[in-house]
Amino acid sequence: MDTLETLQQIAQSVAGCQKCPLHQKRIRAVPGEGPASAEIMLIGEGPGRNEDEQGRPFVGNSGRFLTELLAKAGLKRSDVFICNVVKCRPPENRDPEPAEILACRPYLEAQITALNPKVIITLGRHSMGHFLSQARISVIHGRPVKAGGRLIIPMYHPAAALHQPALKDDLLADFARVPAILANGGTLPPEPAPAPAALPASPEPAISPPPTAQPALPEKKDEGLVQLTLF
Ligand code: SF4
Repeated sequence: MDTLETLQQIAQSVAGCQKCPLHQKRIRAVPGEGPASAEIMLIGEGPGRNEDEQGRPFVGNSGRFLTELLAKAGLKRSDVFICNVVKCRPPENRDPEPAEILACRPYLEAQITALNPKVIITLGRHSMGHFLSQARISVIHGRPVKAGGRLIIPMYHPAAALHQPALKDDLLADFARVPAILANGGTLPPEPAPAPAALPASPEPAISPPPTAQPALPEKKDEGLVQLTLF
């Protein structure tokens, strides 16, 4: 079975899954979408209202913002595979419960194995926690980490950044660094050397008077001639 067939089979299993209580109120399960050849995988937390209605990940406001973020990295949605930690909507957009994440974990693991992406961008705490259970996102966001033999770049969740403008600039900057990280073998490129400190300002050189056609003759003083330098 090739990658596409495997991903389709996982999606079919998700659509009929009843392994956790989240299936009870879902309209549609949201398995994920993207090309089977994608080298970059994005993992969010769980579907919201729009995603639940459409059965697609990251639609609505957070989806539009994600498209903007991907553009910062020179990417389009059609370049990446996008899915979530839990495939059914938690009621009222609450955080997924640990038991729900655990129940849904085999689907995510199967998607990662099938796709075998070069890099995984986690969006939000719960997604990061799948790979880095002890990490704090406020500390490591935007920094590539090797975990479980894979390259992970933890990022804030786009929806969180929409509600907390302070995070938005961080998220935009983190996505803008993705091409450099990939070009640098999966590590942060070295910071550019700081610009040399500005030299202390030297006093303005005295401006000599322009030469005149007929330089004034040195004044004769009692103590002798005063040398007048003309430039
Ligand atoms: S969230 Fe995952 S485990 Fe729970 S019902 Fe949906 S697909 Fe199944």
